[in-house]
Amino acid sequence: MKQQVLLEVNNLKKYFNLGKNEVLKAVDDVSFKIHKGETFGIVGESGCGKSTAGRTIMGLYDRTAGEVVFNNQDIHALKDKEKFSFHRKMQMIFQDPYASLNPRSTVMEIISEPMEVHKLYRSKKDRQKRVYQLLEDVGLNRDHANRYPHEFSGGQRQRIGIARALALDPEFIIADEPISALDVSVQAQVVNLLMRLQKEKGLTYLFIAHDLSMVKQISDRIAVMYLGNMVELTTSSQLYKSPLHPYTQALLSAIPIPDPDIEDARERVILKGDLPSPINPPSGCVFRTRCPHAMDVCSQKKPVWQEAEDSHFVACHLYNKEVMDGKEYDQTAAAK
Ligand code: SF4
Repeated sequence: MKQQVLLEVNNLKKYFNLGKNEVLKAVDDVSFKIHKGETFGIVGESGCGKSTAGRTIMGLYDRTAGEVVFNNQDIHALKDKEKFSFHRKMQMIFQDPYASLNPRSTVMEIISEPMEVHKLYRSKKDRQKRVYQLLEDVGLNRDHANRYPHEFSGGQRQRIGIARALALDPEFIIADEPISALDVSVQAQVVNLLMRLQKEKGLTYLFIAHDLSMVKQISDRIAVMYLGNMVELTTSSQLYKSPLHPYTQALLSAIPIPDPDIEDARERVILKGDLPSPINPPSGCVFRTRCPHAMDVCSQKKPVWQEAEDSHFVACHLYNKEVMDGKEYDQTAAAK
């Protein structure tokens, strides 16, 4: 059965002009589709552009180029009134639940505010009923409604953030590192909650994280980002079984495996150097300064995004037959 595409991101670019002719290319030509009901993970080191991509998709940042098509509408081309109703359909959960909740508002005020803004329920009583229901949906109870954010633990605050994101009954949720600020013991509870809510409410998620092990648990497909570029995309199981891009291989090799025999036997890929600056990224392949397989061609030519295996996309010359046969390389060299 053909899956319905809910969100389509085409050649999205988000650059920040820093003045003095300096441009930060936070997201540089990224394309992917998210199907209705799936969880699409984006993973990468801090500074790779994944959160900027999420915020540009949400419309919190203007795009520099490209399009974000949600339910067949380019959201950056929407007029103010259309944008307002679009925001009912797409909501965001933030990394720091404490900073994202107004400390002077009660939980009741925090969760009911979006409903008031969108004039969703006629009476205050109906809104209150909805808030009580949402609190129960996220594993809290109605007694929590009159308390303030500082009275809750980190995990409970994130539950309040999730309840607020659900208040408008959205179809799509962008979760931007929703568990990174939480204790490890609480992270799994919040992931389980998100998975249960997805099933119950038919939600579609874009789940952004730097920790591959957590992304794997929740995602159907995973995209790996490096320095503003998407370098690999496939199903979660395929990515773990046979990662193609040298960067993904390095990220995966850093995750400890609980079996000591496998852990001792496997080879660890240690990345050299730090993430280069997105203001002055390396020429050709942006990963070449840290890649253990870098070749001459990698500094001269940007790798194309291609389907190397069935539904397994990668941007690396190692999987490009023409480049590896030397044809494209010779042409590049001959043109110089
Ligand atoms: Fe490494 Fe070259 Fe592939 Fe980039 S294109 S990941 S530098 S082998």
